[in-house]
Amino acid sequence: MKILIATDMEGITGVTTWDQVTPGHAEYARFRKQMTEDVNAAIRGAFDAGAEEVIVADGHWNGSNILVEELDPRAKLNTGSPSPFSMMQGIDESVAGVMFIGYHARNGSPNAILDHTWSSRTVANVWLNDILTGEYGLNAAVAGHFGVPVIMVSGDQPACAQVSELLGDVETAVVKQASGRFAAECLAPQVTQELICSSAQRAVERLAIGKAPEPFVVDVPITVTVEFFTSDVADRATRIPFTKREGTRVSLTVQEMASAYNGFRAMVMLAIG
Ligand SMILES: [Zn+2]
Repeated sequence: MKILIATDMEGITGVTTWDQVTPGHAEYARFRKQMTEDVNAAIRGAFDAGAEEVIVADGHWNGSNILVEELDPRAKLNTGSPSPFSMMQGIDESVAGVMFIGYHARNGSPNAILDHTWSSRTVANVWLNDILTGEYGLNAAVAGHFGVPVIMVSGDQPACAQVSELLGDVETAVVKQASGRFAAECLAPQVTQELICSSAQRAVERLAIGKAPEPFVVDVPITVTVEFFTSDVADRATRIPFTKREGTRVSLTVQEMASAYNGFRAMVMLAIG
């Protein structure tokens, strides 16, 4: 049983500000270590429940946040950017289940730490067909493309709620209660690591007995629509062939999810310019 742990940083234990997740800031060093510890807790839970292989994808910023020298040596780490599957690097049909560690709510969510969708400077909203979603939905759909379910999430309460709303009965580890975009009541690492570990363990145990949620499979053809904050970034995104534009919304219709993910990422890369 092979598990992919897809990570982000905004939903890591104790994180409440951009400085804490931005390379170059003094605070960042503390929280990349904390990110590594949250991830190690999930790895421990997965192996405790019988996982045979664990791959970690470092999905925040340029994908080089997790401290490889402190990683649980039983796991492998996908690090660096850009990689073919970005936040989901390592996904394929051989993976049995995906865990989301350190996830955050989609842009515009109330009382949600650092809520955004992929790029806080450029992207207002994203839809897969008519489903308004965040990074969690895009990444879950990529897993679904390979027939793989998301089985667990850690983050603040809106991140866990949005993942559960979209995907059903996934195991959740709420590591902080957000009361604003930059304010939360945080649990201590000793507590959250126990929460993450036990929730990962339950998720893999359920997977092993066929009680995991269904994979998230998006109906084809898939239209991915990105609403940008401003027209100039929409101008750049429409340089991609076959896109359609309405106001600041740019959409692309394709036949399968891997291409939808590539198209979305290409739009955002161009938009950031
Ligand atoms: Zn991030």
